[in-house]
Amino acid sequence: MELEEKTKDVSNQLDCRECGALLKYAPGTTHLKCEYCGCANEIKAAAETTVVEEIDFEKFLNENGIGVEKQEIVTVKCNNCGASSTLKPNITSDNCPFCASSLVITGGTANSIIKPKYLLPFKVDQKTAFEDFKAWIKSLWFAPNDLKNYADNAEKLNGMYIPYWTYNSKTESDYTGERGIDYTTVETYTTVEDGKTVTRERTVTRTRWTYVSGTVYNDFDDVLVLASNSLPESYTTALEPWDMQNITAYNDQYLSGFRTESYQVDVKTGFEKSKVIMNGEIRNTICAHIGGDHQRIGSMETTYNDITFKHILLPIWLSAYRYNDKVFRFMINGRTGEVQGERPYSVIKIVLTSLAVIAIGVAVYFGIRYYNQSH
Ligand SMILES: [Zn+2]
Ligand SMILES: [Zn+2]
Repeated sequence: MELEEKTKDVSNQLDCRECGALLKYAPGTTHLKCEYCGCANEIKAAAETTVVEEIDFEKFLNENGIGVEKQEIVTVKCNNCGASSTLKPNITSDNCPFCASSLVITGGTANSIIKPKYLLPFKVDQKTAFEDFKAWIKSLWFAPNDLKNYADNAEKLNGMYIPYWTYNSKTESDYTGERGIDYTTVETYTTVEDGKTVTRERTVTRTRWTYVSGTVYNDFDDVLVLASNSLPESYTTALEPWDMQNITAYNDQYLSGFRTESYQVDVKTGFEKSKVIMNGEIRNTICAHIGGDHQRIGSMETTYNDITFKHILLPIWLSAYRYNDKVFRFMINGRTGEVQGERPYSVIKIVLTSLAVIAIGVAVYFGIRYYNQSH
């Protein structure tokens, strides 16, 4: 405990010892850097933890979260999309990084939330993320021109730590279903050949189904659930995989210079979401257990045991772009540089391109006719 207190003192040190400016975490490194004098401070790693700490889910629910380490954070809530995120220090106006509407900044609200235990620090720096972002925009067909202009401003890219839950659980699933075994058989059929009805034979494949039931066991580790409602889940899922093996103990210093979103999905709701992910895997296990050539699952009943969870933060470079009153979001995995995004289409560009294609078609048609007539 004493040791942890000591590291805490060090971890709150965010001022440059040379010039007093705010130190920012330098992506891909283990140090904080001063933008003014270049001075670098090493982030003191918390006492090496080889075993990743998990929180007991049932106990947490029964005790209403008492005993779980909390954290006070000051966030600004967006009136438009509901996202709560921390602000960059010393700013008086800003746009919501999730929906691009302007934020009303009046001091922010202090919230007590479950303290994140681990995080993956940013590895891709803003410059690299911005290059990836620009390359991605350039690759888009029919993107409006002002999107390409928009992509010229690196400041539009926000480095955000996004909240996630991870769940572990051992499951036991009773199922009923059917096993299908293929067999071939020769059948006769009639057909008409040369105006005559004839009988022929052919080999066909059929499936014989038998009723089966059984129990399968799965052991889930780190089922990842997005704890934000502000990002489209299909895109954040596409940002996976995350190199979870490199997860680091939480330290404020990694957050310096970046913004953090606080979770909107609670622990219980998050677990329901994790069940959907686990069930997909359990179905695969059941099918393998049934065997044969085909499988049908009639019913499955799962009990979840030894459920534990933890709160983690994952790094995403984020940009929200407004076009024709709609919001389009781009996300870059802050570890791998993988880009995902919603994309606007320029109707004018599509129409012009279609007209051009038609014009070429017409020109070719008449060109061929002219050629044929003149030869
Ligand atoms: Zn300095
Ligand atoms: Zn918003």
